[in-house]
Amino acid sequence: MRIVFFEDDPQPYEELHEQLESQVATTPNAARFVPPPRRPNEPAQSYDMRLRSQIRRFLSSPRVASLAVLDYDLTMYDPLVDRDGVQTVCQQIGVPVCVYTFQPGAATRTEYLLRSRDREISIDVAEQSSRVPQLLISYASGFDQLVANSNLSSTQRMDQFAKSVLKAPAEAALALQRYRWGPKTPVAVVRASRKLDSARKTRIVASTLGYWVVNELLHFAGVLLNATAAASYLDIDDQQFNERAEVRGLFDDAVYRGPFSETGPYWWTCELDRIIATGSPASSTHGTGYDLAQSKLGGISHCRCAEGHEGAGYFCIVSERPVCERHSVRPMALIPLGADRSRIRKREFARLPPWLTL
Ligand SMILES: [Zn+2]
Repeated sequence: MRIVFFEDDPQPYEELHEQLESQVATTPNAARFVPPPRRPNEPAQSYDMRLRSQIRRFLSSPRVASLAVLDYDLTMYDPLVDRDGVQTVCQQIGVPVCVYTFQPGAATRTEYLLRSRDREISIDVAEQSSRVPQLLISYASGFDQLVANSNLSSTQRMDQFAKSVLKAPAEAALALQRYRWGPKTPVAVVRASRKLDSARKTRIVASTLGYWVVNELLHFAGVLLNATAAASYLDIDDQQFNERAEVRGLFDDAVYRGPFSETGPYWWTCELDRIIATGSPASSTHGTGYDLAQSKLGGISHCRCAEGHEGAGYFCIVSERPVCERHSVRPMALIPLGADRSRIRKREFARLPPWLTL
């Protein structure tokens, strides 16, 4: 595993590097990019070409990076390094990109809805600071897993990918097809890269699929659920679900174990349904996760909607809180079709910039 950084300020890089070394068992090979100095009287165009080829070399040797980590703001680099330019080179070589920002949560989450989710993963350092090293390792190893999966090819169908790589239960296949798997996703990339050598093509396909898994499947509650979304779906108080291991333990068989699973935990929704159906007390015909946990463990509280009443069911992707149908909306432009447990709380939706909600 090799993780490379584009960070204009050496200090955050040094800190991250240290955390990576101390918190992770197998230390990845990490390095920070330093742009070559300008030569006297060197024309801008010639410098740009030199810079670009240096970036290319940095990304590919001694071996191709598993992940390129970019600071959102690179303006302190001297000479200047432009983030878009770096991302373009990464895309050409097939090195996946993770961009981090230091802005506080809700603003980043709103901005996230706008960012191009098919060419980067984003991390909000302000919100997830303690988890950043593990997240980076998990993203890098997830992409490495996808690259190593020799079954990845342009002809592979979605259901095969779901089964062999994501280890999806059969019932999830139909739901997975309702996610955006359209014009911008792998098909276009593979077509465009047909003439490339196969190692590079594999990396490009792996990056694109990886972005899709992280930014669509794992980010939006639907076929997979994060802890809060799972608690909301199961109608179990989200704090109890997070803090009582024996409650989560009832649903262990539903845990997602495919690439990037260490960024979770996440649960397969259809597997939660199956566990509820097979484990519920006979008296309840339409059992919920609450019924199951209450009958087996006791002392369970219902999940509360962000507005305070009992009963939620859904997940607000902006506030990251449980929410009910009545107090939330589901703007089609912002939420993928398949993500049917994702909504936006009405109060949060009202705060979004109007041009975003058109
Ligand atoms: Zn409500």
